[in-house]
Amino acid sequence: MLDRATVDSLFPADLPETEEWEQRYPPREVGDGAFVTRFGPSPTGFVHIGGIYTAMVSRDLAHSTGGTYFLRIEDTDQAREVAGADVQFARAFDAFDLRPDEGPLSGHEDDGPYGPYRQSQRGEIYLSFVRELLRRGLAYPDFATKEELAEISDAQKKLKLPTGYYGRWAPWRDADEGEVTRRLEAGDPYVVRFRSEGKVGERVAFTDRLRGRVEAEDNHNDVVILKTSATEPRLPTYHFAHVVDDHLMRTSLVVRGDEWLSSVPTHLQLFTALGFPQVEYAHLAPLMKQEGSSRRKLSKRKDDEASVDFYLQAGYPTDAVLYYLRGLANSPLAEVPLAEALATPLQLDRFQSAGPLVDMVKLADICADHIATLPAADVLAGVRGWAQEYDSTLVEVLDENEKLALAAIDVERVGVDNPRKDLACWSEFRTAYGFFFPELFSDVTDPADERFNGLDPALVARLAEDLAARYVQEGDQPTWFQQIRDLAERHGFAPNPKTYKKDPDAYPGMLRDAANVIRVLVTGAQRSPDLYEVTRVLGGDEVVRRIRAVA
Ligand code: GLU
Repeated sequence: MLDRATVDSLFPADLPETEEWEQRYPPREVGDGAFVTRFGPSPTGFVHIGGIYTAMVSRDLAHSTGGTYFLRIEDTDQAREVAGADVQFARAFDAFDLRPDEGPLSGHEDDGPYGPYRQSQRGEIYLSFVRELLRRGLAYPDFATKEELAEISDAQKKLKLPTGYYGRWAPWRDADEGEVTRRLEAGDPYVVRFRSEGKVGERVAFTDRLRGRVEAEDNHNDVVILKTSATEPRLPTYHFAHVVDDHLMRTSLVVRGDEWLSSVPTHLQLFTALGFPQVEYAHLAPLMKQEGSSRRKLSKRKDDEASVDFYLQAGYPTDAVLYYLRGLANSPLAEVPLAEALATPLQLDRFQSAGPLVDMVKLADICADHIATLPAADVLAGVRGWAQEYDSTLVEVLDENEKLALAAIDVERVGVDNPRKDLACWSEFRTAYGFFFPELFSDVTDPADERFNGLDPALVARLAEDLAARYVQEGDQPTWFQQIRDLAERHGFAPNPKTYKKDPDAYPGMLRDAANVIRVLVTGAQRSPDLYEVTRVLGGDEVVRRIRAVA
């Protein structure tokens, strides 16, 4: 074990003692059973929908128990760091209403009482605790080079032993003090390793709040806790930062991805060595994707829908996405209406340990169902909010035609049993409703257009001319439609399929084909909401103008 003077010489003389940190960050005053949770993303510039899921769960568990939810930016891996990552987080948290109570983006001037909330700014804190472990012989400097470490692991593989830095495979664990001191004085680069008491093959049990009792192999590795001295600033590894931060920031429940489950034995050893009370864990299963007959983790590299940007760009209503994610967390929520589901606290004992499947078809259905229940003004606000970021032309058009937009949105939605559900996300608005707006509609001018299904172009032109000349907008639906029937009859169309099929050569087509011409001229498409309702919203003049465009 290194003597205290040697250990202390490795750190700034004015580095605070660990007690000073303990005093500066006292236990939180929260009620019994209140969870203090956090979300600890790394600033890689990519916000994963799984991160939103984790943040949502963390925040919900804190708020429903009267606790606190904070954000800690885990930026100790500076090679992976991307500039502007905060902007991405802000965007995602705002969209999903997930701003933290404390930490960056909480809106507090100093972030909050347990800061700094960025690990890169907590360097001194980690050093105090590393020094403490070194003084107590619970950690030691390791000078092994990359090559030496590779040799160790090669040798272990040959002998079919577990790989890692432990026991007789840990050359610096019990190295001669004189040699260590000499290397330190020579300024040789080193990392600091934790002296694990774990033995190969030993088992350990712990409780996870989502999984109950978990048994796992204990940690026997002398894990690195402080990265190399060759680069400044000296930063901790994830393991060490997690333990120190979640202790000093007084987290009571660590909600994180289950890729960390296998690290719990290491973390438990660190909590014990540092004399910290144990934190509770809830390891979330990852969001999954169905691929053929198997399931795999939703992948940042392979799946567009892994990225929060995907949802924002498409404009899925974020409360409906949250509703869906809550259903994945605490299924089955299917029958619970959205507002109620969003207000119902998530329950730890209702999580499944298998990863929930993200089904985009289901999500789109949920979003379409949700949009169908919204008043037109809310739909318009949703579309407009989305368009402000992604479609500035659409914003102008909506602002110019607000009344038209509201009327268009309500076609086949108000006073009907089955309201239209043709909008699952705001970006679909142009396709589904764009034709209502003169600025977005392209007149159909070619009588040979393929949307007329091969009907004689001269006949198309005659139909248009004839209807335009006598078009009447007023009247109820049957009256309105009668003029289409009459039009079809005047131009020799069969009134119904049965008549048509008896002698197809006798007719240019049936009523349906004539109506299709009018529908295409008015809406630009062969399918549309009820044409009578559409024409009422457009007004007779605009309808006639569109019909005339082909003549
Ligand atoms: N920074 C870690 C990650 O992004 C967070 C894990 C945790 O929440 O402790 O995976």
